[in-house]
Amino acid sequence: MRYQELSHWLSTVDEPLDPRPSLPGDADADVVIVGAGYTGLWTAYHLATADPSLRITVLEAEIAGYGASGRNGGWCSALFPTSLPALARRHGRDRALAMQRAMQETVREVGRVVAAEGIDCDWHQGGTVVLARSQAQLGRARAEVATAREHGLDPDDLVLLDAAEASARCAAEGVLGATYTPHCAVVHPAKLVRGLARAVERHGVRLHERTPVTAIRAGAAVTPYGTVRAPVVVRATEGYTPGLPGQRRAIAPVYSLMVATEPLPAQTWDRIGLAERETFSDHRHVIIYGQRTADGRLAFGGRGAPYHFGSRVSPAYDREPAVFRALRRVLGELFPVLGPEVPVSHTWGGPLGVARDWSASVGLDRATGLGWAGGYVGDGVGTSNLAGRTLADLIRGVDSDLTTLPWVNHRSPRWEPEPLRWLAVNAGLKVMFSADAAEARNGRPSRRAAAFSRLLGH
Ligand SMILES: Cc1cc2nc3c(=O)[nH]c(=O)nc-3n(C[C@H](O)[C@H](O)[C@H](O)COP(=O)(O)OP(=O)(O)OC[C@H]3O[C@@H](n4cnc5c(N)ncnc54)[C@H](O)[C@@H]3O)c2cc1C
Repeated sequence: MRYQELSHWLSTVDEPLDPRPSLPGDADADVVIVGAGYTGLWTAYHLATADPSLRITVLEAEIAGYGASGRNGGWCSALFPTSLPALARRHGRDRALAMQRAMQETVREVGRVVAAEGIDCDWHQGGTVVLARSQAQLGRARAEVATAREHGLDPDDLVLLDAAEASARCAAEGVLGATYTPHCAVVHPAKLVRGLARAVERHGVRLHERTPVTAIRAGAAVTPYGTVRAPVVVRATEGYTPGLPGQRRAIAPVYSLMVATEPLPAQTWDRIGLAERETFSDHRHVIIYGQRTADGRLAFGGRGAPYHFGSRVSPAYDREPAVFRALRRVLGELFPVLGPEVPVSHTWGGPLGVARDWSASVGLDRATGLGWAGGYVGDGVGTSNLAGRTLADLIRGVDSDLTTLPWVNHRSPRWEPEPLRWLAVNAGLKVMFSADAAEARNGRPSRRAAAFSRLLGH
C-alpha cells in the first residue's frame, strides 16, 4: 500500500513512511496499546514521560497515522461531542464547565508538547470562526452564545461577530455574522501524528507497525506474530473498533471526506482572509470544516458520506465522487473568488467513531486491566490528548482533576443490530441534508432538524 495516497497530509510529510518492524514474537510489557493514532500515541507519551520505568508497547495494524489521525481537518479544538447543556443536564453545571475548561486547556497542552518535542506540524492557534449565512444560521449562532453564557463561559471563550467583523476574519459570500472562539489551533495532522510517533520512541516506547491485533483480552493483545502479555491493555482503535472480536456494535464508523485546493495566490488570500489561519465552518446542520494550510491551500471537508451496512470499514469508502463534487461546490459558493472550477488537487476521507449516545469516553476497568478511549464524533484531535493524559493517570492509579471529569468510565450503550443501525444513521443524515436545503431556500430554521438534535440529546 502506498500510504502517501491516503490523504493530502500523508503525501506532504518529510519522510518515506516505511513501516517500522512488526512484532518479532511473544513479548511482555507493563502496558500494551492497540492502535497508533493520536489516542494510542498520546497515551504512550504521557505514560512514558510520567514514569520512564514503564515498559510500553504500541501495536499498529498499518503505520502510525494510518487512521483518522493522518487524514483529518487539522482542527485541534476545544469542541467536545456532547454539548454543554447536555453535559449539565446529566452531570450538573460545575462538572460540565470543568469538562469544557479541560478541553480548552488541552489545546494549550498540545501546543506545549509540540514545542517541547520539536514537532514541526504547522501549529498555529488562530481560533475558529463559524459563519452564519442565513437568518436560520444567525439564530443558531445567537442561541449558541446565549447558551454558553448561561453555562458559565465568557466573551473570552465565545463571541458573536456582526457581518463586518465576521467578514474581516473570513470573507465568504453572504456572511450575516459569526461566532468566534480563540480555543482552536490549526495543525498539519499527519506531521503531528508522525512526529508524536518519533517522540514516543525517543521516550523508550516500542512501536510495532504492520502488526494487526486479532483479539484483545484481559492481560494480552494477540497478533499473528505473537502475543504481548501485559496487565493493562488499551484499545485505541476509534472508527476501526468494530473490526475487533466482540466490538461490532460498540462504535458506528461514520465517514468524513475532504478536498484540498492547489496553493492559492496571495491576491486570492487577500480576498478570502483567514489571516490568522482561523479554522472555519458555518452554522448549517451537516458539518463542514476548513483550514488555510501553511502552504496556502484550502483544506476543506464535510460529513454526509453514507454509513455502510454492518459498520464496515474499507479503503473503498474513503472516496465518494458525489461527496467530493458537493464539497467542491460548497467551497465555490463560500468563496466565488475561487472561480467556477475550484482548483482541487487532492481528495480523500476516512472513518471516525460515533457511540450510540454520541458520548466520547475514556476509561479503565480495574478488574480486567482493559482500557479504552474514543467515540469522539469528529472532535478527536484535541480530545485524544485529554484521553491520553487521563489514561496515563488511571493506569498509574493517580487521582487527579482529569480522572473525575464526567466522561471518565462512561459506558455508552451498544448500537442496534442491523438493519436498524443502517436505517437510523442514514435517516439521520438525510434529515440534516434536507433541513439545510430547506433553510437555504426559505431562510427559516428547520423544525425537523431541531427535533432530531433533541432526540440525540444535544
Ligand atoms: C476526514 C476526517 C476529518 C476530521 N477532522 C477532524 C478535525 O478537524 N478535528 C478533530 O478534532 N477531529 C477530526 N476528525 C476526527 C479525528 O481525526 C479522530 O477523532 C482522531 O484522529 C482519532 O484518533 P484515534 O487515534 O482515536 O483513531 P485513529 O487515528 O483512527 O487511529 C486508530 C488506529 O488504530 C489502528 N488499528 C485499528 N484496528 C487495529 C487492530 N486490530 N490492530 C492494530 N491496530 C489497529 C488503525 O490502523 C489506526 O492507525 C476527523 C476525522 C476524519 C476521518
